[in-house]
Amino acid sequence: MGGLFAAAFLQRIGWEAHVYERTPDDLATRGAGLGTHDALLEGLRALGIDTGERLGVLVRDRICLGRDGKVVARRTLPQVMTHWARIYEALRPLVDRDHFHSGHDFVGCRRAGAGVVAQFKGGNEAAGELLIAADGLRSTARSQLLPDAQPRYAGYVGWRGTARGIDLPPEYYFGLPGSEMMLTYPVPTGEWNYVWYRPTTERELADLCTDASGQCHGSAIAPPLIRPELAARLKRDARELLAPALADIVEKSQPFFQAIFDLESPRVALGRVVLMGDSAFVARPHVGMGVTKASLDARCLARSLEVSTALDAALERYDRLRCEFGRWCVQRSRAIGAYIERRELPDPEQVLSEVGAVRADIPMSY
Ligand SMILES: Cc1cc2nc3c(=O)[nH]c(=O)nc-3n(C[C@H](O)[C@H](O)[C@H](O)COP(=O)(O)OP(=O)(O)OC[C@H]3O[C@@H](n4cnc5c(N)ncnc54)[C@H](O)[C@@H]3O)c2cc1C
Repeated sequence: MGGLFAAAFLQRIGWEAHVYERTPDDLATRGAGLGTHDALLEGLRALGIDTGERLGVLVRDRICLGRDGKVVARRTLPQVMTHWARIYEALRPLVDRDHFHSGHDFVGCRRAGAGVVAQFKGGNEAAGELLIAADGLRSTARSQLLPDAQPRYAGYVGWRGTARGIDLPPEYYFGLPGSEMMLTYPVPTGEWNYVWYRPTTERELADLCTDASGQCHGSAIAPPLIRPELAARLKRDARELLAPALADIVEKSQPFFQAIFDLESPRVALGRVVLMGDSAFVARPHVGMGVTKASLDARCLARSLEVSTALDAALERYDRLRCEFGRWCVQRSRAIGAYIERRELPDPEQVLSEVGAVRADIPMSY
């Protein structure tokens, strides 16, 4: 997303931008649900993308349900919920096939005169004035340029999935069993998306990431390799811990999970390389900011290049504004997830209002 946003915004100010993506196949079949922020919708519109009904489902209320299905807390806070693939499919055509290079695995870069050369596995290279590293949480560029900026495991995972055939009024629901947080909302594909945050020690995480042959895949595992008994256990726990309507969604899904990390980079402009999106800062998903932040980063880079007379000044501006914003997102999301990390009991009213408040005071400067 960061790469596509960057290319699209830079093209609009007259730069020639190429995107190099490691994955050889189409990414549009992947992803799940995500919440939108006004800043994201505004950014999409600035690129000429229609943000009408097809993009998302409007939910009005956030409702916390107890184990017995009764309403424990409720707050009105309209938000458009969408699907990762809807945004991806809208952005992807903005970069034509001559400028989008799939199957390119970035392995390193070197300075060349006033510019930079990106190197790819197999020996291909690409030269340019600026390299934008939008290569995600496990960024190769960041690990080489800022080896000390490592993701920090937050002590819990988010089990995720989508389900069809759910008979619930279209609102944003929460279940808060023990020190956990389950949330679910409808997405425009007709499915319900859920995320269920569960405290998980590092040892338990290693077990979750171990496939049926006994191989451990580190802190992330491809969904098809998740052992079936883990999904079955999640569904059993859902029936025991969640309101029946929420348990039904987990029951009808094919669950997968992501471990939750915090990542803060001390700088995001390093010579002729800039870090963008998740390669720069990763906030826990409670602020629902991943795609919005990637769009704001890209917009900020384009504006910095537009308003500054020299490239160095533009990159300084980008670095200052994105570090400020990235730190804000990480701190905010850490505060919301602190009770899960510390295995404390939450106050449902507080959870609904904290998650909601993020939307009101997001600093928009780019
Ligand atoms: C397939 C997919 C599905 C997702 N689904 C959701 C979702 O449902 N909900 C949600 O909230 N967030 C989702 N995300 C995460 C969300 O896109 C990001 O949090 C946010 O958009 C920030 O985007 P990003 O571009 O910085 O990072 P990412 O979206 O992680 O993109 C990084 C890209 O860089 C590529 N890459 C990594 N290393 C290299 C390399 N060495 N060389 C070349 N390319 C490389 C990756 O293949 C990936 O396409 C998804 C990400 C992906 C890739």
